[in-house]
Amino acid sequence: MSISIAIDGPAGAGKSTISRKVSAALGYIYVDTGALYRSIALTLNQQKIAPEETPKIESALHNTDIRLEFIDGEQHVFLNDRDVSGEIRTAEVSMLASKYSARPEVRAYLLSLQRKIAAEHNVIMDGRDIGTVVLPNATLKIFLTADAEDRAQRRYEEMLQRGQSADYETVLADIKKRDYDDSHRAIAPLKPAEDAILVNTTGNTLEQSVKQLSDVILQNLNKGE
Ligand code: C5P
Repeated sequence: MSISIAIDGPAGAGKSTISRKVSAALGYIYVDTGALYRSIALTLNQQKIAPEETPKIESALHNTDIRLEFIDGEQHVFLNDRDVSGEIRTAEVSMLASKYSARPEVRAYLLSLQRKIAAEHNVIMDGRDIGTVVLPNATLKIFLTADAEDRAQRRYEEMLQRGQSADYETVLADIKKRDYDDSHRAIAPLKPAEDAILVNTTGNTLEQSVKQLSDVILQNLNKGE
């Protein structure tokens, strides 16, 4: 049976950067499920379908093919055969993803895809509801968090590094809004699974956070053997 490590937590907690490094060290596939929600938001928004338009969303999803490919260990997301991995990384798509991800039809559509990937590979899968809904029987569940200010600072620096223009206060406000919306939605809200291990990386450098998370994972995987 494949091993699955579920990593949930709020936006900007460093889940993707840290999980990517830890999966490379363990030889697991790293699955960033936020990219799936972002891609759905991108296509629905491009088709001018609003989050409330359930029948239109259902029929659009029926005609949407979304697939992940792992090229040199990096996840690429293909939307109807088009690689949208770069296009989904904007502040606008972040906010749209949070809106459309509250829709039950969107969550149902992505559920089986996520479970299929986890059944086929050893994975570290990051998201908001991996330990609570997608993989309730995951080998290990982690809830990774940090203070909102710390998370905003990291996101802000990431955006500058990517050459995007950014304003710290706007990034902080967006993060707080997404935290609120993601944890207050009716379906699959962001919350730690009852059996999740809490890891808080506030004040840590990236290297310290990577070490903190890999230590927790290695100690707990060994425990289960
Ligand atoms: O992780 P990332 O910031 O890319 O996620 C974008 C948005 O997608 C989140 O704010 C959240 O609303 C949604 N999401 C989700 N469930 C997941 C992953 C992401 O609802 N498993």
